[in-house]
Amino acid sequence: MSTLKITNLSKTYPNGVKALDNVNLELSNGMFGLLGPNGAGKSTLMRTLASLQEADTGTATLDDIDIFKQPGELRKVLGYLPQEFGVYPRITAEQLLNHIAVLKGITNKGERKDLVAYLLNKVNLYDIKNKHVKGFSGGMKQRVGIAQALIGNPKLIIVDEPTAGLDPGERNRFHNLLADVGEEVIVILSTHIVDDVRELCTKMAIMNLGQIVFQDTPQNAIDSINGKVYQKIVTRTDLEDYARKYSIISNKMVGGQPLIHVFSDEHPENGFEQVNPNLEDVFFSKINTANVLV
Ligand code: ADP
Ligand code: MG
Repeated sequence: MSTLKITNLSKTYPNGVKALDNVNLELSNGMFGLLGPNGAGKSTLMRTLASLQEADTGTATLDDIDIFKQPGELRKVLGYLPQEFGVYPRITAEQLLNHIAVLKGITNKGERKDLVAYLLNKVNLYDIKNKHVKGFSGGMKQRVGIAQALIGNPKLIIVDEPTAGLDPGERNRFHNLLADVGEEVIVILSTHIVDDVRELCTKMAIMNLGQIVFQDTPQNAIDSINGKVYQKIVTRTDLEDYARKYSIISNKMVGGQPLIHVFSDEHPENGFEQVNPNLEDVFFSKINTANVLV
């Protein structure tokens, strides 16, 4: 069992954007979902944990490794799939994995060959191992990405928005693959897609404007707002009035009309019905929902 401990992590970019605002988290083995809207600071946090950029203040440790003081030690036990895993030279899947295995210090040629074959099988790309990665679909590229992240028996795997841009079938296959490795190591998955967290993660945090605004299990997250979410179909013209009166947490079109979810301690007036909250309600109730109407 490993522990990743993040303490008082803050980072302000030179342009003044505070991307990390006193982040504190403690994680152990299993899939951890970091859920947040675009710009929340997820990628900044992940690059910092991968020792690819520095924080202004704070510490992070993986068991007895101080990530910022011993980045070399960290990288030996890290698997990282960046949000932009986009550099695909004209090489095959097998050559790419072999190359990364060399970079990760696996010097024995036979050992490397076996490992690459094992990984290609694991991510279901063995049959096309001699095809150029450049021609792969988004899902196939992400599977190459996860295969390279698995090289070297990592204790910590960081995957940054791995399902963005995948079609539903590819997303499903990618989920199964992650769930497969997820129990034995610490996996941090960042996403703005609520279903990724719902389907995969045993623990989660919600990040917004550089801050961790919530941390618990997905089920406890839902329980925490139970009995406080109401819905109603309204007209477009009334939307602004409702927004002024209530705390609207989501607004979806259903059959051409807005269906709003509001967050309220008491039963709102006429026409609202209580609903069983879902993780999406949690997400929108924890982040600033002022822009829900635009
Ligand atoms: P997320 O991955 O959740 O979308 P990011 O960590 O990419 O969030 O970005 C957090 C905030 O920091 C955003 O406002 C973004 O514009 C800003 N940001 C990210 N990288 C840089 C950078 N290199 N220089 C300046 N601002 C940045
Ligand atoms: Mg990002």
